[in-house]
Amino acid sequence: MSVLVVVECDGGEVKKSSLEVASYGSQVAQMLGTTATAIAVGEATEANLAKLGEQGIAKVLYDAEPRLKDFVNGAYTKLIATAAQKEDSKLIVLANSNIGAAVGSRLSIRLEASLATNVVALPKTDGGFSVKRGVFSGKAFADVELAGERKIIAVKKNSIEALHEEGKTAQVESFSAQLTDADFADAPKEVVMQDQAGGVLLPEADLVVSGGRGMKGPENWNLIEDLAKALGAATACSKPVSDVDWRPHHEHVGQTGITVSPNLYIACGISGAIQHLAGVNSSKVIVVINKDPEAPFFKAADYGIVGDVFDVLPKLTQAVKELN
Ligand SMILES: Cc1cc2nc3c(=O)[nH]c(=O)nc-3n(C[C@H](O)[C@H](O)[C@H](O)COP(=O)(O)OP(=O)(O)OC[C@H]3O[C@@H](n4cnc5c(N)ncnc54)[C@H](O)[C@@H]3O)c2cc1C
Repeated sequence: MSVLVVVECDGGEVKKSSLEVASYGSQVAQMLGTTATAIAVGEATEANLAKLGEQGIAKVLYDAEPRLKDFVNGAYTKLIATAAQKEDSKLIVLANSNIGAAVGSRLSIRLEASLATNVVALPKTDGGFSVKRGVFSGKAFADVELAGERKIIAVKKNSIEALHEEGKTAQVESFSAQLTDADFADAPKEVVMQDQAGGVLLPEADLVVSGGRGMKGPENWNLIEDLAKALGAATACSKPVSDVDWRPHHEHVGQTGITVSPNLYIACGISGAIQHLAGVNSSKVIVVINKDPEAPFFKAADYGIVGDVFDVLPKLTQAVKELN
């Protein structure tokens, strides 16, 4: 019996959220007196998979089937379920990402496993198995008991510190789930990436520069884009900004938009309404630029600049450029 950790890879690299998931899985394995095995999905290199030893992973399974490079729900579900059966894993840990959310629910049906999403802490295992998860758009937490023999946990980004045991390596094993054409029946025919400033996709971004109605109009968005470009960040916006088409809808964050969990979220001319905060409140560091010192966003901020975005943003961008 081992804990099975689903590790998402992109362009050969293990995603940061998956390093956190690997660390979570290995710590739970230790609590349960077992080891953690990873199953890698997406495009990976053996060297990077071996480095998962630094997060406490003992073994990594990798199916080199080329069609697994891009996300295909049916194929990923079968791959992970087959790995879980091979390893006799009663607990599967994955990221609360787009892929994790889609696959987690399919796996829970297929394996008859209980599923907890948005999990923010290691489980309590004394006299049961309960996890703490964010509910009501992150405004509250609930402790839930996972009943049944098989369990799936989807870990929220930035809630677990990734372990880093320098130099430890995991054993990488090739693995085949014997996937057939039928498993790829729901493969997208074509993937058209949405145009994202700076080329960084918002849900996965580590750094986000976001603008609200305080930016006054779309003609001023070069100030947001310049800072995002200097930082290598994605751009985002508040709901009213996308409602009036200053920015595309896929950039809108909040309760009714995308949830982001970057290491740094810079909010420019955004008031900090509760519906906006619901989508950004698990960011590691929040910086708020607002000319109103009473703006609610300052209560959620780690750093605040009381000032006019039209003065502050060019200076901030210049300072970042000088550091680069
Ligand atoms: C059911 C429901 C769901 C919603 N979902 C979402 C959601 O998902 N995401 C979301 O964002 N909103 C959502 N909203 C809307 C939300 O309640 C707020 O109305 C919205 O977030 C406000 O956007 P804003 O901060 O850009 O604009 P405003 O509230 O108009 O705030 C603009 C801010 O800019 C500041 N400012 C103005 N000029 C400058 C300047 N020159 N320099 C610096 N600062 C300046 C002002 O002081 C102010 O704080 C939802 C609302 C409802 C009812």
